[in-house]
Amino acid sequence: MEAVDYLAYISKVIHTTVVATVDDDGLPITAAIDMMDSDENGLYFLTAKGKNFYDRLIKRGYLALTAMKGEDTMSSVAVSVRGKVRELGYEKIPELFEKNPYMREIYPTEESMHALTVFQIYEGTGEYFDLSKKPIERASFVFGGEKKKEQGYFITDACIGCGSCVTVCPQNCIIQNEVPFVIKQENCLHCGNCMTACPTGAVERRAHDVQWTSVLRGPERSGDTV
Ligand code: SF4
Ligand code: SF4
Repeated sequence: MEAVDYLAYISKVIHTTVVATVDDDGLPITAAIDMMDSDENGLYFLTAKGKNFYDRLIKRGYLALTAMKGEDTMSSVAVSVRGKVRELGYEKIPELFEKNPYMREIYPTEESMHALTVFQIYEGTGEYFDLSKKPIERASFVFGGEKKKEQGYFITDACIGCGSCVTVCPQNCIIQNEVPFVIKQENCLHCGNCMTACPTGAVERRAHDVQWTSVLRGPERSGDTV
């Protein structure tokens, strides 16, 4: 699937997500937010301007979310996204109400709708994780011009083919056709067992945290978020 397909899966199939923002004390705070629409330019949601959630979005210009679908842990698919947000304003509200008619029950009149404003997650990274498959399936994606960065565990030329990593891998996702062995990234849990077991240090972890300046942006520098 392409990034646009993962975003559509969030908005059209899962719809309700748990979103994390950061408060004035630098602490995380979550909220349940419906993703009302998506396209190749990102995800769209709305909120009321009177909410603390609105203030946090404006101040930080950034959020993280997880959308999850399934009856229990082993039947669940989760898609997580973190990215930059910007306020689009009221203009897109009628279109989002058309696509999500239940919103009329919450904001039944035109007057009440004017409390609302639309935000777009316009640049970010995403992770898809499917625990219902055996072995598990995972994938990563980017949108809005964000560059894809390698994450997870990789086996280098220091591998001697001893097989220690294979015996401890819970997903059986290390290919042994030739040395160095290769990790099937789409099935890897990122548990790190292989790295711990490797006698030659051949397994490397590549973990990249997003370095966007907006993550650190304080209220005094929030002018470019609107
Ligand atoms: S990180 Fe875990 S799941 Fe992935 S290859 Fe290593 S042992 Fe297997
Ligand atoms: S444990 Fe290390 S050296 Fe042994 S097969 Fe795995 S990666 Fe190669």
